[in-house]
Amino acid sequence: MILDQSARIVIIGAGPAGCSAAIALASAGWRVTIFERAVFPRTKPCGEFISPAATRLLERLIPRPRLIAIGGAPARSMLLERGSGTLRAPLRSSAWAVPRSALDHELLRRAREAGAHVVQPSAVLGVGYSAHRALVRVADGREVSCGLVVHADGTGRHDPRGPVAMAPGWIGIKCHVRRMFEGVRIRACRGAYVGTIGFGGNRGTIAIAVRSAWLGAHRGDLDALARTLWPEFDPRWREGEWTSCGIARSRYVGSGHPRSIRIGNAAAAVDPIGGEGIGLALWSGDFLGRLIVESCAIDDCSPDTWQQRFAREFRRRLRLRSPACRMAAEVLVRPMATRAFWSMVGARTALVRAWSSASGKAGPRPTN
Ligand SMILES: Cc1cc2nc3c(=O)[nH]c(=O)nc-3n(C[C@H](O)[C@H](O)[C@H](O)COP(=O)(O)OP(=O)(O)OC[C@H]3O[C@@H](n4cnc5c(N)ncnc54)[C@H](O)[C@@H]3O)c2cc1C
Repeated sequence: MILDQSARIVIIGAGPAGCSAAIALASAGWRVTIFERAVFPRTKPCGEFISPAATRLLERLIPRPRLIAIGGAPARSMLLERGSGTLRAPLRSSAWAVPRSALDHELLRRAREAGAHVVQPSAVLGVGYSAHRALVRVADGREVSCGLVVHADGTGRHDPRGPVAMAPGWIGIKCHVRRMFEGVRIRACRGAYVGTIGFGGNRGTIAIAVRSAWLGAHRGDLDALARTLWPEFDPRWREGEWTSCGIARSRYVGSGHPRSIRIGNAAAAVDPIGGEGIGLALWSGDFLGRLIVESCAIDDCSPDTWQQRFAREFRRRLRLRSPACRMAAEVLVRPMATRAFWSMVGARTALVRAWSSASGKAGPRPTN
C-alpha cells in the first residue's frame, strides 16, 4: 500500500497533536480534513504548562509575540513544594504557560490558514478499514473516504487497537483563577498533586491530579477538595467552573492498521506532572507530518517505512520521560516517599537537575 499526495488524510481531533500534523501536511500541499467534535474556544482540563523541550517547536508554530497576544506567558522556574519546603527544578530555557482555550484555537486557525479543511463541530463515530482506503463515519451521517486516518482524539478509540489505558482510580480537575501565580509550582499532597501556573495579567490555572476516592469523600464539592489539598486556596479566586476528566496513562500503542496512525495522547500518555503531554502531542504531529512529506518526496511512501520510523522515535522519546514522570507522580502523592525524597535530595540540585532532564525539561540551551 502506497500513500500519495492525491489521497485525502483525515485527522480526528484538533488538539495540539492534530493541529501540528495538519499544519505540516497541509503546508506541503497534502489534502487534509480535520474533524473536531467541540466548538472552539473551549476549556480543557490541563495544567497549561508547556515544557522547555517544546519551546522551539511551539514558537515555530506560533511566534512569541502572538503567544503573548493570546494570553501566554514565559515560565522560567519550576518549584516543587511540600508543606513549607520548596525545591527548585531548573528550567534551562524558558517554557510557556498558555491557556488551552487560546492555544488550541490559534493552532487550528493556523492549520486552516495552511490549507486544512476543518469540519467543526463534528464527531467521528467510527472508522472502517480496507486494504485500499479507510471510511470515516461522521455524526451528521456523512462518510468520508481517505488514504490515511490520523488518530489525534486523545484516546485512539477508532483505531483497531482501541483506546489507550486510563490511570484507574484517578481524575484530573482544573479551573482558571483571577490570581497571579509565579512560575510553575507543584505541591505534593496525600493522594494528589496540585499544580499552579501564572499567565500574567493576574490570571492563572490550578490543575489537580487526585485519587477519585478523595472526590467521594468531599461529595463532589471541588472547592472543598481543593481546600483540603491546598489550604491557601480561596474559592473566590475562581473564574468559571471546575472541569474534570480521567487521566490517560499508557505506553506507546502502535497503529492497528496500515491506513491508521496514532499521535499525541492517542499514541502514549505520560503522567501529567511537568508539562510533557502538550510537547509530545505537538512534536508527534509535526514529526509525523514531516515524515510523510519527506518519505513520499523520495518515493518511499510505504507505511511500513514511515510508521516504523515514527514508532521508533516516539518510543525513544518516552524511554526516560515516561518513567521519570511516573516516578515523580508516585513520590509526590505519598507523604512518606516525599519525605524520603526531600531528605535524600536536600541541597543536591544535581539530582533534581537529572530528573528534570530525564522528564524532558532540559530543553534547548538558551540562545540569548
Ligand atoms: C489534569 C491534567 C493536567 C494536565 N496538565 C498538563 C500540563 O500542564 N502540560 C502538558 O503538557 N500536558 C498536561 N496534560 C496532558 C495534556 O492535556 C495532553 O497530553 C494533551 O492535551 C494531548 O494532546 P492531544 O492533541 O493528543 O489530545 P487532546 O488535547 O485530548 O485533543 C483531542 C481533541 O480531539 C477531539 N475529539 C475527541 N474525540 C473526537 C471524535 N470522536 N471526533 C472528533 N473530535 C474528537 C477532542 O474534542 C479534542 O479537541 C494534563 C492532563 C490532565 C488530565
